Amino acid sequence: MMTTDFTEDTIAAISTPPGEGGVGIVRLSGVHAVEIAARLFVSSKGKDIRKIRQRVFHGHVHDGDGNILDEVLLHIMRAPHSYTAEDVVEINAHGGMAPLRAILEAALAHGARLAQPGEFTRRAFVNGRMDLSRAEAVIDLVQAQTRAALHAANTVAGGALSRALYELRDLLADALAHVEAAVDFPEEDLPELVNEALLERLRNAHKRMTDLIRNADAGILYREGVSLAIVGKPNVGKSSLFNALLRDARAIVSAQPGTTRDRLEETITLEGIPARLIDTAGMRSAADEVEAIGVERAKNAAQQAGMILFVVDASAPFSQEDVALAEYLARLAVPVTLVRNKMDLMDGMDKMDAGDILAVKWAAACEVSAITGAGLHELEHTLAALLLGDASRTAEEPMLSRLHQKDSIRRAATALERLFDNIDASPEFLAVDLREALQAVGEITGETTPEDVLDRIFASFCIGK
Ligand code: GDP
Repeated sequence: MMTTDFTEDTIAAISTPPGEGGVGIVRLSGVHAVEIAARLFVSSKGKDIRKIRQRVFHGHVHDGDGNILDEVLLHIMRAPHSYTAEDVVEINAHGGMAPLRAILEAALAHGARLAQPGEFTRRAFVNGRMDLSRAEAVIDLVQAQTRAALHAANTVAGGALSRALYELRDLLADALAHVEAAVDFPEEDLPELVNEALLERLRNAHKRMTDLIRNADAGILYREGVSLAIVGKPNVGKSSLFNALLRDARAIVSAQPGTTRDRLEETITLEGIPARLIDTAGMRSAADEVEAIGVERAKNAAQQAGMILFVVDASAPFSQEDVALAEYLARLAVPVTLVRNKMDLMDGMDKMDAGDILAVKWAAACEVSAITGAGLHELEHTLAALLLGDASRTAEEPMLSRLHQKDSIRRAATALERLFDNIDASPEFLAVDLREALQAVGEITGETTPEDVLDRIFASFCIGK
């Protein structure tokens, strides 16, 4: 646990990413933020930042021995008009690790405590500056990989989801009050508990919950992305398709360090969905050990993928190998899209009889040419549509973007379904269902989220956020 002296109240961290940059920011938040800043900062005009209600100061940060650490701009935001709703001081220094670390150390030496991951945002949440769903959208915003993901995060960060959830909460709370009022009535005088108007509103709430559940899959997809494994026997054009999709779908700069020209994994955007494209080794009964390892890896990649692209050569007859592979893939729990490649070789020719392979019920089937690019747009569109299912494709409505949120809202919807099924039950029973629904909705806004879940959520933020 934290110590109980004055360090407890004021946290500090470097809020800009590590590395060199034009500017870097050390952020302080808490009741002593301005006091601590005053101890390490000397204004170039000799101003006392504790006394003057000015927001931005120019000057230098010194260490305890009077040595200048950096020339800075100091930005003061007084409570409650700051990100955390506490006094916040942002020290804008030169963006190198040495000056930033030195300034941070000076702040710590003067009584601040190093912030934990996500602690600034957690304070904003605890101080009522934003609810949990908005706090989580802040991290979605920072981590967004595509424009669609950014748009979805901005919609939620702007409070659209919170408003929808608070409406649900108020509606459920009204219904609960209504039902609880009836608990004390003697059996024979019991008024009609759930009248038609109330029931209508609850049905409406349930409908909104199911909409949120349906669109959550899109929200989760935009945020987390999906992995697509390209599998098929050697020489069917897997690598060619991989490269063609990269060119076509505009590759996102890979965040992984050390990727070289022979990389087998790249991230592309599929109509706004970040998709990790994995080019696996050719799959066939392995002739030697090295190849066997490659085939094993390919199988693993296929099993763990969100979707498999099963590439076959449409211009060649199907072999036993294709059929065996098809049977293997069809047994996996992962949806498979059949991609018939090399269609350019088929011009003017009859389509090859795909026989056994087409008899398998694939999630979708597409015809492409990795060489000419024909059919690639359709393939991308088919994949995006399959991934999104009947979830909304527009990010206009606020979307849940995390599994725990979807889980909570599903529990709320289930509680209401129980209530609908037992509408004639005694008020105590109806109250139990309504309370459960309220509790579940509150887990998303943060009103009823258990402390350990909050810990986990904020721990996934970075330090300084
Ligand atoms: P992989 O072993 O499955 O990765 O297959 P490659 O991508 O290395 O392709 C094998 C051969 O098929 C290469 O000579 C490619 O140029 C060729 N190829 C791949 N896709 C097409 C296509 O759509 N049309 C034609 N005509 N040739 C293709």
